Amino acid sequence: MSASVPRSPQAPKTARPWHALEGREVLQALGSREEGLEPRVAAERLEALGHNVLSRRSGPSALRILWRQLQDPLIYVLLGSSLLAILLGKGTDGLVVLAVVVLNTLIGFVQEYRASRAIASLSEMVPLSALVLRAGERLSVSTAELVPGDVVLLSSGDAVAADMRLLSGRTLQVVESALTGESIPVPKRPEPLPEGTPVADRLNMLYSGTLVTQGAGMAVVVETGERTELGRINALLGGAEETVTPLTRQLGVVGNTLTLAILVLAVVLLAVGLGRGYSLPDAALAGITLAVGAVPEGLPAVVTIALAIGVSRMARRRAIIRRLPAVETLGSTSVICSDKTGTLTRNEMTVRALWAAGRRYRPDDREDTDPTAELTETALTRGDRPLEELLRAGVLCNDAGLRLEDGRPQVSGDPTEGALLLSALSSGLDPEALRRACPRLAAIEFESERQYMATLHGGARPAVYLKGAPEAVLARCDLGAAEREEVLEEVGRLAGQGMRVLALAGRDAGGLRTLEERDVAGGLRLLGLQGMIDPPRPEALRAVREAHAAGISVKMITGDHAATAQAIGEQLGLGDRPAVSGARLAEMSDTELDAVVREANVFARVAPEHKLRLVRALQAQGRVVAMTGDGVNDAPALKQADIGIAMGITGTAVSKDAADVVLTDDNFATITAAVEEGRRVYDNLVKSLAFLLPTNLGLAMILAVAVAFFPIRDGEPVLPMQPTQLLWINMVAAVALGVPLAFEAHEPGLMRRPPRRQGAPLISRFVLLRTVMVAVLMTCGALAVYLYEAASGDPQAALRGQSMAVTTVIAFQVFYLLNCRSLEDSLLRIGLWSNPAIFIGIGAVIALQAAFLYLPALQTVFGTVPLGVRDLSISLLVGFMVFPIVNLEKALRRQAHAGQRGT
Ligand code: ATP
Repeated sequence: MSASVPRSPQAPKTARPWHALEGREVLQALGSREEGLEPRVAAERLEALGHNVLSRRSGPSALRILWRQLQDPLIYVLLGSSLLAILLGKGTDGLVVLAVVVLNTLIGFVQEYRASRAIASLSEMVPLSALVLRAGERLSVSTAELVPGDVVLLSSGDAVAADMRLLSGRTLQVVESALTGESIPVPKRPEPLPEGTPVADRLNMLYSGTLVTQGAGMAVVVETGERTELGRINALLGGAEETVTPLTRQLGVVGNTLTLAILVLAVVLLAVGLGRGYSLPDAALAGITLAVGAVPEGLPAVVTIALAIGVSRMARRRAIIRRLPAVETLGSTSVICSDKTGTLTRNEMTVRALWAAGRRYRPDDREDTDPTAELTETALTRGDRPLEELLRAGVLCNDAGLRLEDGRPQVSGDPTEGALLLSALSSGLDPEALRRACPRLAAIEFESERQYMATLHGGARPAVYLKGAPEAVLARCDLGAAEREEVLEEVGRLAGQGMRVLALAGRDAGGLRTLEERDVAGGLRLLGLQGMIDPPRPEALRAVREAHAAGISVKMITGDHAATAQAIGEQLGLGDRPAVSGARLAEMSDTELDAVVREANVFARVAPEHKLRLVRALQAQGRVVAMTGDGVNDAPALKQADIGIAMGITGTAVSKDAADVVLTDDNFATITAAVEEGRRVYDNLVKSLAFLLPTNLGLAMILAVAVAFFPIRDGEPVLPMQPTQLLWINMVAAVALGVPLAFEAHEPGLMRRPPRRQGAPLISRFVLLRTVMVAVLMTCGALAVYLYEAASGDPQAALRGQSMAVTTVIAFQVFYLLNCRSLEDSLLRIGLWSNPAIFIGIGAVIALQAAFLYLPALQTVFGTVPLGVRDLSISLLVGFMVFPIVNLEKALRRQAHAGQRGT
């Protein structure tokens, strides 16, 4: 068959008015046919035309990032100060300030550049595939491998991955917002259109980047990669991923307020200096030094890095972040609403119980199956017709595939349908032979909203088969009241054991050639039930426990039967309250709903629109909601949730598009892992703040105390450290010590704390108190060392005193950094060596400080003198004091917290 497919490796080079041609002309022009390309031709075209991908959306350009660094108000303050110092004749000081500016801009730039690259590349990792026909065979290929001429089968939820001409299908609706900004679906038709039709009105064309929201159809690829309409737009825009999150915005506000406050303080200090008899240049320099020294320049870089680390660690744990704010929102998640099938359970369905014409059967001899039920194989051997028909319907009304791999049967497609194939196979039927004998003529595909699937078959005895949720199927069957009662009782019995129950029905085809919903609206004969188990994932069980310990509620939301859902919910540790059905949700008032969502953890037979209402009800209680979804109609709920989570394997492209996070393994445990990472990121930011802020406040205080109270000798103010030295400390702290905390591992008790309050201030009372306490300690230490050393009044001793004061502050920072590695726990608990970045930072600081003290060039710039062992020991000892003091504070806080928990 495939031999007759034309073999031109090259698709035509010039763009043709595909929309004006008939479908078969398009196929011909592309050297293809309805059965699709021959695999070899497809491979040759791929080689010749390249992959169907757009040039990387590379995020903001390097220049743009650099420009952004320079737009910070802090930078203006620093530049202005530098200029002022130079104008006032304090050249060295001015240049040091300039060095601070250059260094900070560079660091900020390098870090933000790397982070934005990491973020830009991660958002593209969501894998997508397309269903194509190649030489008549259906194949799922990566969208990157599509070539012109490929015949693609599209169905609701798919992303259109290349520009295509529709060949058949009348029900297709497509959202083209990626191209047109319009979010209302456009119906597509395969008929040719006049040649002059504008792109937006070409109803027989499908464009890359758009999403199929309804229906199904077949289309042929006409353009791929950069040559698609989207490719052209992409080339124009170049793409710019914003890296602003609520946190960075909040930090921006903090930064601006701080800058303003610091400017005011600087002016006050200048006035105080002048009032005490400082010369204008000296007073101005004091003001400038305060301005520069008090600004936490390292902070923006720390935030960007912490977020970027969060994104890449989450990716490693199989959660791909599509929108950056999700990193921090994940950390404050207080309720996770999860699908059941495949997320909390394995989605490995196995039929365990069958029921036909009042008799019970079991497909195998496992211990946990009902021993009173008859083995299906035995029943078939004795010629049990009802059972045979039940199994037969399960095979025919079924899209799953079956093949043998190493002699073992393997199913592909929907696991629910796979289970039906296997139940027939293990009972001794031959599914392939059955399908050949009764070819399918038409079908109504399964959709969650409809809850059933129906097929029409030809062959010796043309028939219609229907399978689906018992409610949906029974409603279409002719059944007496007693019979219905009996069936429902059996459904309840099986579902109560956690089984998913499918009902199957059928009737003669009666001359039907096509199949519409009205053809299966009634008059069917119930064939029986098949009950299948889908065990919970063991890791989901652990993850639910972990979420509960972390104060996060877990709600299971499923399309399954209430009894099935409740039984699985119990197995997962979600309590034994009865499941609330979607229908009940729909008729509740908002107040009722509010009460119900507080208590209930299991929701069954839920339709996508109920999910939206659930999310809103939870959000109205002030909860931060993470919600999973995989279908097209889940998109609104995913968008409404604080964290929308899509499934990477089974999810539709539409749901992935609407989500903030995509799970590459569809696993519930990955959600809790991502929450843990989110908490870690936030913790590390708090740690960085708790480290950086006291340093800056301390430096400002040292200077302020000196200007206000230290004497003026021979017109020269006496200072515990020179302005350039103070700037040195600020620089070193920002470079080497601020950033490593962003790499800190998570704390032992991280997932045993309740979630962070939504909207809690970034600079909490704790950070504020700690900042003041540590700044006062640092000021006292530095001043004490200087005064002790310089007391003699000898100028050399005064110089040494200054160098010692600087070294004391640096030592102080190194020890305080160790303190900051955990907010509450002692260093021993989290492990001294668990974060190597800290020691790289400390090593760098020691090297820099040695250069500062002993390199002649730096001695000239900074006015330092080499220190001996005695001097160093004094500085180290005083610097060390912070360590036990903060540890004591932590112990007291731990005790207070334990007390609170105890009561
Ligand atoms: P969850 O919401 O927990 O992930 P789900 O999405 O698998 O569950 P649906 O797919 O909406 O739930 O299934 C709802 C019901 O439809 C099932 O309980 C089952 O009775 C029926 N059903 C599921 N799959 C099929 C199918 N392929 N054909 C016919 N009926 C089905």
